[in-house]
Amino acid sequence: MNTRARPAVATAAPHLPANAIELKGLRKIYRRSHGQPPVEALKGIDLAVPCGSFFGLLGPNGAGKSTLINILAGLVVKSGGSAAVCGVDIDRHPRRARRAIGVVPQELNLDAFFTPRETLEFQAGLYGVPPRERRTDELLEAVGLGDKADAYARSLSGGMRRRLLVAKALVHDPPVVILDEPTAGVDVELRRSLWEYMKRLNARGRTIVLTTHYLEEAERLCDRIAIIDRGTVVACDEKSRLMRRLDEKELIVSVTPAPGELPGELRRAGVERDAEGRLRIRYRPSRTRVIDLLDAVRAAGFTVVDLVTREPDLEELFLRLTGRGTETGR
Ligand code: ADP
Ligand code: MG
Repeated sequence: MNTRARPAVATAAPHLPANAIELKGLRKIYRRSHGQPPVEALKGIDLAVPCGSFFGLLGPNGAGKSTLINILAGLVVKSGGSAAVCGVDIDRHPRRARRAIGVVPQELNLDAFFTPRETLEFQAGLYGVPPRERRTDELLEAVGLGDKADAYARSLSGGMRRRLLVAKALVHDPPVVILDEPTAGVDVELRRSLWEYMKRLNARGRTIVLTTHYLEEAERLCDRIAIIDRGTVVACDEKSRLMRRLDEKELIVSVTPAPGELPGELRRAGVERDAEGRLRIRYRPSRTRVIDLLDAVRAAGFTVVDLVTREPDLEELFLRLTGRGTETGR
């Protein structure tokens, strides 16, 4: 790595804000026609996304994720509160704020008559990127569209369009990259390559914000996670701390003889029989030792044949915080 380039960055550092995105009391009310009641999509969101983080914005369908992102992108007008990108207020300096972010939208909205190359060149022009600083070929290569540079967008598959949208969001090399459900309906291979690319950008100091209702994705990638539900933030913390709030594990024990009706003492200890005839025990690791649970199983006349423990995941945290699942919507 070229370390000589570093000092310029270091001297600029004291002026860099700590937060890539800062929202205070952000509200959005969608007014609707035909006498329908208005929709309060964001109910006063306070949120800080630290510079350099890989941030997950999680929530079920209808939670308000796209609304939040579209406000930052300048596509939706907020109803109240404030929002700043890299310390730049979106009301006071809308153009500067917009230049600081690259948004990969949820919808595959591309001009069908433009080729990928034209799409990127046009976007670069919109952002005032001078021709010699454009990275059209490099970006197309990076998203695996090098050989499709001059194909018409309408001939591109859904996955290719998604990749083109990623490249399009990056033409002005924004410090903050926001992806709105980028892997919904996208194949495994593309997912993997997209995440590898985002991880590399993150390692180079870009802040990545990812919205998803796939908890597993956020769990794997993000270092910080906010959960929003019905327009409010229900949790926001480092991923590891969120996980620690789940003081619950599951122990699944295969036993002989096959359990029929469970003895009362086991039922009272919270032991259940699962569909495969194994014993399923939920316990709090901070209070209960596995060895004591196994002793209770043996004392009830069973021999332990095999056992597995299962860690809690974000799915469970999510359920507990919102009282419902992730795919159920409103
Ligand atoms: P998410 O991206 O988390 O699924 P959205 O921000 O798309 O959530 O939607 C939040 C809420 O706002 C939903 O109830 C949705 O129906 C409503 N909504 C979104 N866009 C509009 C719109 N243009 N007009 C009216 N209601 C809208
Ligand atoms: Mg959305």
